[in-house]
Amino acid sequence: MRIVIAGAGIGGLITALSLERAGFTDIVVLERTERIRGLGVGINLLPHAVRELTELGVADRIAALGVEPASLSYYTRQGQLIWTEPRGRSAGYEWPQLSVHRGRLQLELRDLVEERLGGIIWLGRKLVDVQELDDSAVAVCELPDGSRERVAADLIVAADGIHSAARKLHYPGEGAPRWSGLTLWRGTALVDPVLDGRTMIMLGDAEQKFVAYPLSGPLEDGRQRINFIAERRGGGSPHVDWNRSVDRAPIADAFAGWRSDWLDIPAIIRDSEELLEYPMVDRDAIPSWVFGRLVLLGDAAHAMYPNGSNGGSQATLDARTLAYHLATAASVDDALAAYEQARRPACTRLLELTRQTGPERVMQIARERAPEGFSDIHDVIPRSELEAIAAEYKLAAGFHPEQLNARSSLSARVGA
Ligand SMILES: Cc1cc2nc3c(=O)[nH]c(=O)nc-3n(C[C@H](O)[C@H](O)[C@H](O)COP(=O)(O)OP(=O)(O)OC[C@H]3O[C@@H](n4cnc5c(N)ncnc54)[C@H](O)[C@@H]3O)c2cc1C
Repeated sequence: MRIVIAGAGIGGLITALSLERAGFTDIVVLERTERIRGLGVGINLLPHAVRELTELGVADRIAALGVEPASLSYYTRQGQLIWTEPRGRSAGYEWPQLSVHRGRLQLELRDLVEERLGGIIWLGRKLVDVQELDDSAVAVCELPDGSRERVAADLIVAADGIHSAARKLHYPGEGAPRWSGLTLWRGTALVDPVLDGRTMIMLGDAEQKFVAYPLSGPLEDGRQRINFIAERRGGGSPHVDWNRSVDRAPIADAFAGWRSDWLDIPAIIRDSEELLEYPMVDRDAIPSWVFGRLVLLGDAAHAMYPNGSNGGSQATLDARTLAYHLATAASVDDALAAYEQARRPACTRLLELTRQTGPERVMQIARERAPEGFSDIHDVIPRSELEAIAAEYKLAAGFHPEQLNARSSLSARVGA
């Protein structure tokens, strides 16, 4: 069975690795760009995704690229602690959370695909059309010189990201991604370790926020590389481009005053290694991901706000779930139906939660109930409410510790 994957991003590459482990060998990945450049800044892989990477036998290679955050803490704009929770193995998961540079992750996944499957990534192939036949499909690609190439497949997996061409074929009126009005400025910086050097921090509320997490341990000069996201309503534009560099000074000015004895946010922004502007966008949930022998996966199926750090992790779950059902179902059609049933309702629910700012909702609640601050957070938000918000999101995203540790494996082999 020939499976063609459109898109060599995080979802497409993990799909190739998952299919190979499930016993499929005739796989082609079509990638629009002529070179995989490893773009982006930080990305989080939550324990449910790291479990899948572990079962694929690639987690060690990926863990070597980044760090394992041990806790996550939410603060008010004034720096008052709202909620802190252990993460990864510190929280009782059998698998860690990993924070890595997205570009390094993509390049490592590419190397792994090439090691296991050879030269199956065809670069400079932009998917522009899909011809659906009875039990097969043809991917029509545009090459850099403008010519077209047709690639026949028994199944096409569209992992072509938030601007998915395959999705557009079936939802032509959808238009551009939906903008929340918030703008994200994403960057990396070399700083003295923040707190214990292994904590992911978030300060602010739904109008303005700063997020940071380590991407490395201490370097030779004692500093560490962090990823940060400065987020604000107003300014920016809805234009979706992952690589738009912007001037640091106005963004640092927008966070003037966000300083404490343990964190100087304007300085981090001003001295950052790079600063990329990106609108906070997502797409509405859609009623179908499967169209004959074409199936959507990753951001193509469910682009969502980064609240909760779930984009890459959900793409990983999609990939493993699809491979599992293709290996175990009685037919390809049954497999696609089972994949959609397993993943689409769950992602629709998660999309709703991310629109309500996901687990970060506690920050907005603190601001609304105590805009001037508090002496004890539990006078403002009872512990039970804080715990319920954190648990609700983890359950919806598939990474509540008990749920995840008990879930059966998605490893399966065709014909086994
Ligand atoms: C350049 C870039 C930088 C990013 N930076 C970050 C970041 O810093 N932090 C973060 O959390 N997330 C980032 N993301 C998004 C993140 O990778 C995804 O949200 C998540 O990993 C889901 O992965 P995906 O494979 O569905 O989509 P993506 O990782 O976006 O991959 C989509 C892939 O499909 C390719 N493609 C697009 N259209 C076509 C087509 N018509 N034909 C063939 N190939 C096509 C793209 O070039 C890309 O390689 C970035 C995405 C991109 C493309």
